[in-house]
Amino acid sequence: RRRHKPSAEVLAQGIIKGDITYLSRAITLVESSNPLHLEKANTIIKHCLPYANKSVRIGITGVPGVGKSTFIEAFGSQLTTNGKKVAVLAVDPSSSLTKGSILGDKTRMEDLVKDPNAFIRPSPSGSSLGGVARKTRETIILCEAAGFDTIIIETVGVGQSETAVHSMVDFFLLLKLAGAGDELQGIKRGIIEMADTIVINKADGDNLKAAKLAKVEFNRALHLYPAKASGWQPKVTLCSALQQEGIDAIWDIINDYVEATQKNNYFEHHRNEQNKFWLLQTIEDRLKSDFFGDSKIKEALKSQLELIENGKTTPFAAAEYILSL
Ligand code: GDP
Repeated sequence: RRRHKPSAEVLAQGIIKGDITYLSRAITLVESSNPLHLEKANTIIKHCLPYANKSVRIGITGVPGVGKSTFIEAFGSQLTTNGKKVAVLAVDPSSSLTKGSILGDKTRMEDLVKDPNAFIRPSPSGSSLGGVARKTRETIILCEAAGFDTIIIETVGVGQSETAVHSMVDFFLLLKLAGAGDELQGIKRGIIEMADTIVINKADGDNLKAAKLAKVEFNRALHLYPAKASGWQPKVTLCSALQQEGIDAIWDIINDYVEATQKNNYFEHHRNEQNKFWLLQTIEDRLKSDFFGDSKIKEALKSQLELIENGKTTPFAAAEYILSL
């Protein structure tokens, strides 16, 4: 007997009631490349939208080994102990290359994965960052509708993925290490500029002194940046994810941020701006994938590339021709 597949409406109702199995199924539809699945996913999202939005979305980034999974495990467990419902998602565009995600891997967060008030989902795979980001963004909506009030989105410092995550969260947290000797040189300016808080992890044992020094340095550096549109002055704080120290203080900072930005209306404004940005981004992605996915275009592109290689046409003439198709 064929297994009965619940309709979009049934799935949506289940999600709104907090059914994790239905949530997982819906996310699988969001992540699918089958147009029928996408259509179903869109219906589910439409039903879920009125129930989404009541959350804090937190982006977490840092180089491999900085302690992201250890931190999220400690931070997330602290939150669920305080009655929060935590969803951990990941954005890892490299997963399509390595055929496996290095982020959000369930085995990396042993306690949290067993926690009934936590939901962990590895990075969707995809050929482009745009695709991965779109799927994650839709997954945020579904998780919020299922009652998750704290959404953590993890990404590793590979290329543009921090920017993509920054554009889908309320609060952006950068994890750093002290004593690497390159406190200020080694970091991409743009990422520091995005951070609402820099957390210096592994501030324990022999590392503590260096961590305190790094805090002073980062504080000094942060003051050189222009004021943020949010009106928020980024904080620098120490933490030991391993020993679970400094975790409470980080949650306090995030709460202060949410309170301050709700008061000055930046919180809502920022989400609106993000929605507008994502509208345009979605159109761009769809146009691109429809265009380059078209078999006629694929063939023409191949032959025009050959002509270019043999010096038989110019890039502009070739583009003109392909676009005219
Ligand atoms: P990720 O690659 O950023 O997810 O880093 P992990 O969470 O996997 O941590 C990398 C290594 O650093 C592991 O061996 C952790 O045990 C260790 N680690 C993480 N946080 C701390 C910390 O606060 N203090 C110390 N001493 N080690 C830590």
